[in-house]
Amino acid sequence: MGDPLRTVIDDGQLSIAAQPIVDLSTSAAIMDELLLRVVGPGGVPESPVELLKQAETRHAIGDLDRWVLARAAQLAATGRAVSVNVSGRTLGEGDYSACVAEMLDLCAADPALMTFELTETAVTPDCDHAARAAGQLEALGCKLSIDDFGTGYASLTYLKRFPIHYLKIDREFVADVTSNWRSQAIVSSIVQLAEKFGQQTIAEGIESSAALAALRELGVDFGQGFFIGRPQAVSDVTDSRCRAGALLLTSACQR
Ligand code: C2E
Ligand code: MG
Ligand code: MG
Repeated sequence: MGDPLRTVIDDGQLSIAAQPIVDLSTSAAIMDELLLRVVGPGGVPESPVELLKQAETRHAIGDLDRWVLARAAQLAATGRAVSVNVSGRTLGEGDYSACVAEMLDLCAADPALMTFELTETAVTPDCDHAARAAGQLEALGCKLSIDDFGTGYASLTYLKRFPIHYLKIDREFVADVTSNWRSQAIVSSIVQLAEKFGQQTIAEGIESSAALAALRELGVDFGQGFFIGRPQAVSDVTDSRCRAGALLLTSACQR
């Protein structure tokens, strides 16, 4: 990993925020999406998008994803269901699924409490390798989502080849779902597609009660967004066994 990125990790400039995902028919929370945050000047947590771009370019995204994984397993060990973003590149290279198994074991966390959202901040380099890793995650008892479904480079390829549980409908189609018939048609088609595959749908970026009602009407199962709940800072988990595991993971479980 290049020095500036290593410094961000080693100097404690990373944190995690959690955003609730709720059942649209009951409003019950089913899990939290964990979002990486970079602690900016003044200690304010900021979006990771710039850091993720640099990390993808330098092939260092796996280090960030493993850092988040360690915290996610710690949270799962407390009984909290979490959804973790993982770059297609991280799944497509190295031994991410072995790291997941190791971390779940160290923290004695229930695999069923962990969902992995396949994100595409870059093209997945080796789809066969990524598909195998996805199968291994499923075999462990974890679930998988396709993030930003409909806008990624390879959404349909993932749908065909990976054991997917959830399709996350991109904000692009949610933002104007109350007024744009094309977005409504796309959402409704994604719901039908998910049903054909025995999967469930999660709408991202719900910002109003009208959008929530429209999505419910269109048959979307779950949702998240500022209207439901904004990302909230997650404080570090203090379980000593998990903390030791996190340290082991960052030192031993590298590519
Ligand atoms: P994503 O996984 O699709 O996450 C949703 C993004 O939308 C988050 O931005 C969230 O803060 C934002 N969001 C949530 N609700 C709303 C809403 O109602 N309206 C609007 N306008 N935005 C909303 P964030 O945190 O900046 O993350 C951006 C992207 O960075 C994520 O998109 C994901 O692709 C990536 N990312 C975040 N954490 C990680 C990570 O740990 N690993 C990897 N590989 N990627 C990550
Ligand atoms: Mg996501
Ligand atoms: Mg998304």
